[in-house]
Amino acid sequence: MRAVDRHPEIRDAVRALCAQFPDAYFRAVDAERGYPEAFVDALIEAGWLAAMIPEAYGGAGLGLAEASVILEEINRCGGNAGAVHGQMYNMGTLLRHGSEAQKRTYLPAIAKGELRIQSMAVTEPTAGTDTTRIATTAVKRGDRYVVNGQKVWISRVRHSDLMILLARTTPLIEVRKRSQGMSIFIVDLRVAIGHGLVVRPIANLVNHETNELFFANLEIPAENLIGEEGRGFRYLLDGLNAERTLIAAECIGDGYWFTERAVKYANERVVFDRPIGRNQGVQFPIADAYIEIEAANLMRYRACDLFDAGEPCGAEANMAKYLAAKASWEAANTCLQTHGGFGFATEYDIERKFRETRLYQVAPISTNMVFAYVAEHVLGLPRSF
Ligand SMILES: Cc1cc2nc3c(=O)[nH]c(=O)nc-3n(C[C@H](O)[C@H](O)[C@H](O)COP(=O)(O)OP(=O)(O)OC[C@H]3O[C@@H](n4cnc5c(N)ncnc54)[C@H](O)[C@@H]3O)c2cc1C
Repeated sequence: MRAVDRHPEIRDAVRALCAQFPDAYFRAVDAERGYPEAFVDALIEAGWLAAMIPEAYGGAGLGLAEASVILEEINRCGGNAGAVHGQMYNMGTLLRHGSEAQKRTYLPAIAKGELRIQSMAVTEPTAGTDTTRIATTAVKRGDRYVVNGQKVWISRVRHSDLMILLARTTPLIEVRKRSQGMSIFIVDLRVAIGHGLVVRPIANLVNHETNELFFANLEIPAENLIGEEGRGFRYLLDGLNAERTLIAAECIGDGYWFTERAVKYANERVVFDRPIGRNQGVQFPIADAYIEIEAANLMRYRACDLFDAGEPCGAEANMAKYLAAKASWEAANTCLQTHGGFGFATEYDIERKFRETRLYQVAPISTNMVFAYVAEHVLGLPRSF
């Protein structure tokens, strides 16, 4: 059905794994607001989450294109890669900016599945999208940093061993540029929770494990600083292109899932003595959604190819994320409409996927921020904030 179907060998293998976790599995996990433990264990066991870890550190050494196909297929099969996608891009921060000692300590263990690095803590309740205004501080005292502050919407903390933390190490008033003076750290959650870190789950629209974090004199060993002190914001930006492209791939997986479900139902459901899909009012929106997904998919591969060639890909990664999140949401809406009342029944899984795919117009970056990026960096318009 798809015009662009790269890496069939990876697709087949991921699909075979996903076949062991049918719709009923994800439906039950969603109903109990649980975490898909068995599914994630199977993914790790098969090595899929170590796709982008270089072979020298025990991973598969694959590129962003292959990694994106893995996440796409999870969503395409009816699952939700949101439970695991953090590991794919969080380890990139460590890989690009960590010391050799940090890489040797963590990456092989992550590749083996002994450690999980599913979480990254950036967002704060008062700063919101304006990351330079974060108020969480890390103050160096001897061989430790002491962290105080608060984060919000931090995902998978209760199912991760490690977390990347962004905190201010130099007060905003003391830096020349507001993007300076922030640093990133590896937080060992197994030690931190209950010893300076309190985690409070946030009930939300999607079954997405996400939390408020409260830091009160949390001590982190100084060797857990990644890269140079004060350059954390820069390091964070370096990882965003991979993150956005991977999320785009998940949306594309969702988009194909919705389209296929809509086509199947439109062909089967008979009303007024004809399949509903014979009506243009039903078939045209499905065709429209499919066209949009195909277009988003091309931009996703463009971003992957540039990233894997080591070329700048900020514009393409942002545009792929925008196009894919919009296309998957439109496909979701069409799929729901095509199913009429049955789309609301949980047993059809459409309402679950509908909720899941909506997230990606807000997180990890909201649509307006993509527009702001393109306006400023691609079109040369004045910075708007
Ligand atoms: C389920 C979930 C999981 C998440 N997981 C994580 C995570 O693991 N780690 C993490 O750090 N964060 C996480 N986030 C946070 C997410 O990245 C933010 O919610 C998102 O970046 C938007 O920030 P905000 O919610 O503070 O919105 P705000 O910054 O308050 O913005 C609200 C709205 O105003 C718009 N807006 C704000 N300023 C402007 C402007 N200048 N121009 C135009 N529009 C503007 C925004 O686009 C947005 O639509 C998660 C969020 C959710 C909902």
